[in-house]
Amino acid sequence: MVLTRVAPSPTGDPHLGTAYMALFDYVWARQQGGRFMVRIEDTDRSRFNPQSEQRILQSLRWLGLQYDEGPDIGGPNAPYHQSQRLELYHRYADQLLELGCAYRAFETPEELERIRRELDGKGQRRGYDGRGRALPQEESDRRARAGEPFAVRLRAPDSGITVVRDQLRGPVRFDNAGLEDTILLKSDGYPTYHLAVVIDDHLAGVSDVLRGEEWLSSAAIHVLLYGALDWEQPNWYHLPLLRNPDHSKLSKRSGHTSLEWFRGQGVLPEALCNYLALMGFSMPDGRELFSLEQLIEAFSWRRFSLSGPVFDLQKLLWLNGKYIREVLEVTELERRLAGFGAERGWQPYPTFARVVELMRPRISTLLEFWERTRYFYAEDYPVTEAAAALVADSGPLLEEALAALRQLRPFSAEAAEAALRDLAQRQGRKLGQLVQPLRAALCGATETPGMFEILELLGPELTERRLERAVAGTHGLV
Ligand code: GLU
Repeated sequence: MVLTRVAPSPTGDPHLGTAYMALFDYVWARQQGGRFMVRIEDTDRSRFNPQSEQRILQSLRWLGLQYDEGPDIGGPNAPYHQSQRLELYHRYADQLLELGCAYRAFETPEELERIRRELDGKGQRRGYDGRGRALPQEESDRRARAGEPFAVRLRAPDSGITVVRDQLRGPVRFDNAGLEDTILLKSDGYPTYHLAVVIDDHLAGVSDVLRGEEWLSSAAIHVLLYGALDWEQPNWYHLPLLRNPDHSKLSKRSGHTSLEWFRGQGVLPEALCNYLALMGFSMPDGRELFSLEQLIEAFSWRRFSLSGPVFDLQKLLWLNGKYIREVLEVTELERRLAGFGAERGWQPYPTFARVVELMRPRISTLLEFWERTRYFYAEDYPVTEAAAALVADSGPLLEEALAALRQLRPFSAEAAEAALRDLAQRQGRKLGQLVQPLRAALCGATETPGMFEILELLGPELTERRLERAVAGTHGLV
């Protein structure tokens, strides 16, 4: 049975890279009729962040990548926090010691630092020279019994090669002479990633390990551990890292990487999943817009490309706009907008559905909707400098418009258009010369959708109140 897993470390913001892996984990498991699990790799206590886990899980749920087992829902492979599995790691570390595939190393942090500097001086990139191997077994046992702190290190083979059979890359060979005697169990009793990941993946029966290519060299160590413990290896898939349009590695400093940021912008989860899928996969018919279900149906590793996927925010926003315009039903869009607004204290108002209709072709995110339509639901809508200047220059003209609009019955787009055309003609102006100041006064902007429809949607009260303020010179002051 296929079992995939995503194994985030709770160290900070929920990362785009986690979603990218989780998406393919999810799709592959679903397609194969298998399971997808979440495990929390929290053994690095120095980088542990207590809120991070909840935020990561919430982001996965938001994306619709529902896992079958995990820390908050339990499952057959509980516990799902590595910090709760320490006893297991000790048990297997002992087994590796007995097998002679690992050894105890008693160096103190200061000694290790000295060794590192020595090696560095000799131009060697490794951090440890394997000197702990020389310690006679009896002495090692005696010092351990006496309670002296030690780390357990892998006894990496001195020669030969280790092959990682990556499903996407074929066999990747590592020269054993270049492998270090990596720490498996630290002197604080916590395992390193290498020991924990191998034991947990094996015990859970993970069949397919998908992760970023930054772990490819670690995979050599993992292959050695699987071999030492006589366990069957999972299928390895090291996915390429997401890149910026300039091909630099996507990082917090070089772009947005937090899933919460995308959510906060009003990117739709299905659009983000769709876009992340395009970062590796292409549909047989070249279609760029597809649902998770369609992806599950069509997915194949043969159509997965390794060439550095470029994460382009503009393209994502374009795709998100397409979801808003073409994929979501309008009632569903209203529901999403209302939900998004509610989290920020913005409530739907009587004309909300019509404003949604008006804006739908013009927005690419949910946030953009609320930001660009603030003049419909709040009095403290932003006023651009150009709009303020235009209002300041148009007092008499706005006064006449106000007088005309006060008479308007019914207060409809058609009636407003007729009245304003008539007024413009009487003033000997072009319609635009009248409408632009109105737009500035009523919306605080010089660009909006059609003004007559906006007038109808604002209604007589707001229109009059705002124009009165504009005429009185207090426009934009709340
Ligand atoms: N904890 C690792 C990470 O945060 C997981 C790597 C793996 O999937 O093996 O990326």
